[in-house]
Amino acid sequence: METALWHPFSDMAAVREGEFVLDRGEDVWVYDTDGNRYLDATASLWYVNVGHGRREIADAAAEQMRKLAGYSIFGDFANEPARAIANRIAGLAPLPDAKVFLTTGGGEAIDSAVKIARRYHDAQGEPGRVHVISRAQSYHGTNGIGTGIAGIEANRSGFGEILPSSSRVRYDSVDALREEILRVGPENVAAFLFEPVIGAGGVLPPPEGYLRGVIEVCHEYGVLAIADAVICGFGRLGTWFGVERWDAEPDLITFAKGVTSGYLPLGGVVAHGRVAEPFWERGGNALRHGATYSGHPAACAAGLVNIDLLERDGLVERGRTMEGVLAEALAPLAEHSLVAEVRAGIGLLGAVELDPELLRRLPSAVNDLQMLVRQRGVLLRPLGKALAVSPPLTIQTEQLREIGEAFAGGLDELALKL
Ligand code: PMP
Repeated sequence: METALWHPFSDMAAVREGEFVLDRGEDVWVYDTDGNRYLDATASLWYVNVGHGRREIADAAAEQMRKLAGYSIFGDFANEPARAIANRIAGLAPLPDAKVFLTTGGGEAIDSAVKIARRYHDAQGEPGRVHVISRAQSYHGTNGIGTGIAGIEANRSGFGEILPSSSRVRYDSVDALREEILRVGPENVAAFLFEPVIGAGGVLPPPEGYLRGVIEVCHEYGVLAIADAVICGFGRLGTWFGVERWDAEPDLITFAKGVTSGYLPLGGVVAHGRVAEPFWERGGNALRHGATYSGHPAACAAGLVNIDLLERDGLVERGRTMEGVLAEALAPLAEHSLVAEVRAGIGLLGAVELDPELLRRLPSAVNDLQMLVRQRGVLLRPLGKALAVSPPLTIQTEQLREIGEAFAGGLDELALKL
């Protein structure tokens, strides 16, 4: 069948020749429409944290849809699932007196967090603080602000300048952030964004002391620190928001993906009580921002059961207890002649970067390898020079080994083709 479906981030001239159509999922497995089974080594786009096919989530969403499927939470309107999930997330967050602003996904959470930061400064009598600093290689979604601050250059270029008051710094240097704040002038800087572990930019863990270091610098200059936990949250790094691993306390945290394990779209921003204060304690200071589906009851009901499952099955802890097993399963690949580096060891998150010489000779190597591994029944995700692994948190030791073996088999076959 000819397709009219325009795929995100995809070369449609190639994709239109043949789509890979998935039909159903069960735990770590997905099946295509021909009935072939694949190990979902990436949990879709890093999000199916509780695994596929959880009836409890589907039932809760269906029940809520039969009761009250959708209703806005503008003004004083509310619904029980939205109230419950906000309180639940506030209780889990490593921020005092936390408040939760709900969105429909991660990109919207980023735009919300940056707008909250700018309005916070405005309310504090510093309307000049609008500049936003992000890190090279960072990915913060594809909404307006997320595009404007993208650290993956290719995701920002060609759209014109969307957020002129923004700049990027090296991703591995606390001093680079300090220098940039001083260059721009602290009185002009609203916020600094960081992913605890950079995801789409290549799975890049922070250097020792980095997270606490950048937050300290932010606070020294009155800049709000925004942790983007869209990938790192809800167990991916073995904690609820990722930042706890470094004992870091940002001012705002964005989340999405694992909050519902993707069963329905949901995201949001957790604000430190201090940042929420101008909006919650002072009259006439409404945040003029929010989307139609903020606090969507069915999505929130799905999220609540997802959080129940993460807790009941000990999956957040599992993100940590299994990290060594993932690292061990991928470690042998580092010896392969086509591999430059294996990055794993913090949470159920890893990447294998290909050799630069291979990428020069064969620019399609990452995609080719993805296909060769898929033929071996394992789904991986291409990330520039690397392939990512981020399985459901339910994954077993044997299945992690299977991922490593399929990877190795794909690499051997790729080597034969050179
Ligand atoms: N931030 C990060 C760190 C992400 O990885 C993503 C999505 N991959 C986003 C933001 C954007 O989320 P969404 O695609 O739900 O808009």
